[in-house]
Formats: sequence, C-alpha cells, structure tokens
Amino acid sequence: MTRALLIVDVQNDFTEDGALAVAGGDAVAERISAFLAAHAGDYAVIVASRDWHDADSDNGGHFAAEPDFRDSWPVHCVAGTPGADYDPLLEPAAITHHVLKGRGEPAYSMFQGATEDGQTTAAVLSAAGVTSADVVGIATDHCVRATALDAIAHGIAVRVLTDMIAGVAPDSSAAALAELGHAGAEITAS
Ligand SMILES: [Zn+2]
Repeated sequence: MTRALLIVDVQNDFTEDGALAVAGGDAVAERISAFLAAHAGDYAVIVASRDWHDADSDNGGHFAAEPDFRDSWPVHCVAGTPGADYDPLLEPAAITHHVLKGRGEPAYSMFQGATEDGQTTAAVLSAAGVTSADVVGIATDHCVRATALDAIAHGIAVRVLTDMIAGVAPDSSAAALAELGHAGAEITAS
C-alpha cells in the first residue's frame, strides 16, 4: 500500500482572523504540523492545496458582494496575498507537492488544481503509485469533502482523519462525514 497525505487549504483566510475563518482552523494547523513531525515518513507524497483566486474577477461567480455562503463567498484567498498563504502554524517543510486551485473559477477539490509546473493532483498521485490517502485540512463540509470524494472516484482508499479537520458548520460537517462514510471512506482519528 502506497499512501499519500492530502492537506487541504490550511490557509490564513480559512483560519482564525481570516476572511472566511473556520473555528478551530489554527488548531488543525498545529495538529497537522505535530503529525508531520512524527509521521511524514509514512507517506510516499504529501500534497497540500491552496485556494488561489484571481484578484481582478469574481472567479466564475465564486466571489459575491452578498454571498450565500453555499455557492458564493466573500473575497478570499486572492493569489499572492497573505490570506492565501499557508497558516504559519502549518510547518510546510515535509510537503512534497504544492497544488493551487481556483484560478479564475470555483474549485473545492484539490483534484481541480495543479502544481506550479502544471501537474494535476491526480497525476502526482498516479506517478507515485498512490493507492490510499489520508485527508486532512479545512473545511470539512466543503473542500475536504470534495477532495475526499474525488480521491475515492480515482480509486484511492481514503481515510479522513477527524482530529485534523475543521468545518464551517456542525450540521453540514456531520452530513459531509456521513456522506463520505457511505462513499467508502474510513472516518477515524489519526
Ligand atoms: Zn475559494
């Protein structure tokens, strides 16, 4: 079994004091860093995504002045701004691949993104022979959910590590984990 760790959107705009802050985001960043210090060697690749939107457009309706917080959102994670940076509590040294997504479009799944040199997430995992993946990050009910579902769709055995995720809302986060469980993911603490 060749395992990947997928770290979803642990960015300043999604953690405390960010434009779309998720409660518990800072704690997730700290726990992932501690986990990497102990377990980075367990993974063939460690892929981290960042939401990375254009400054000069609504990114396909993803940004709105009056967002509904389902399909439209306040401005967040504009490429090259501090809000789009990894949260400083996330220690990035062990990350092997950095994926950017949402360039001019809505993109919830890491599989919609690519590395700076144009390699898609699926290509990174395929090249490494990945057969299973652990998914962590932000937010449980949006980008973690979409990333885990896409990994399953790519034939990868998925675990969602519940001690290293944070969601926007309790109800939708619980629903997302239930959906992922039905789709075949293992929902477990690390
Ligand atoms: Zn976004």
